[in-house]
Amino acid sequence: MNNSTFTMIKPDATSKGYTGAILDMMVKAGFSIKAMKWIKLSAAQAGEFYAVHKERPFYGELVEFMSSGPIVAAILEKENAVADFRTLIGATNPANAEEGTIRKAYAASIGENAVHGSDSDENAQIEGSFFFSGLERF
Ligand code: ATP
Ligand code: MG
Repeated sequence: MNNSTFTMIKPDATSKGYTGAILDMMVKAGFSIKAMKWIKLSAAQAGEFYAVHKERPFYGELVEFMSSGPIVAAILEKENAVADFRTLIGATNPANAEEGTIRKAYAASIGENAVHGSDSDENAQIEGSFFFSGLERF
């Protein structure tokens, strides 16, 4: 499976009203929506999702931010989904993001950077299953 990835539109972007514009960029770039929900994570859930970063100095800030408001979680499908989606979202730090990327257009800072994208096929599967059951995927 190398045709699906997992994304979240993060609380900074949903609170600023960028949800529709960001989804439009994803669809126009050729991604189709296989599953989607509007949901607010608890701190415990955000901590579990980002457990890989537990030892990093920004972990506490990241968990607080990701549980601060609603997000959009989605599974997206396209050929070469993981790599192409990372290209579409741009660098983690929006100051380094290329023109035309989602983070260049909508991210405020390295911490509040508008969107998440899976970094491997394996993590795309794990992350998608964190949010969605088989009944919620079409
Ligand atoms: P994501 O996993 O959200 O798609 P990424 O893969 O580009 O982002 P990671 O290294 O996985 O970047 O970091 C996860 C998230 O942690 C970042 O998107 C950002 O919100 C936050 N983060 C990363 N580095 C920093 C930092 N130096 N200071 C504050 N927050 C950070
Ligand atoms: Mg990452």
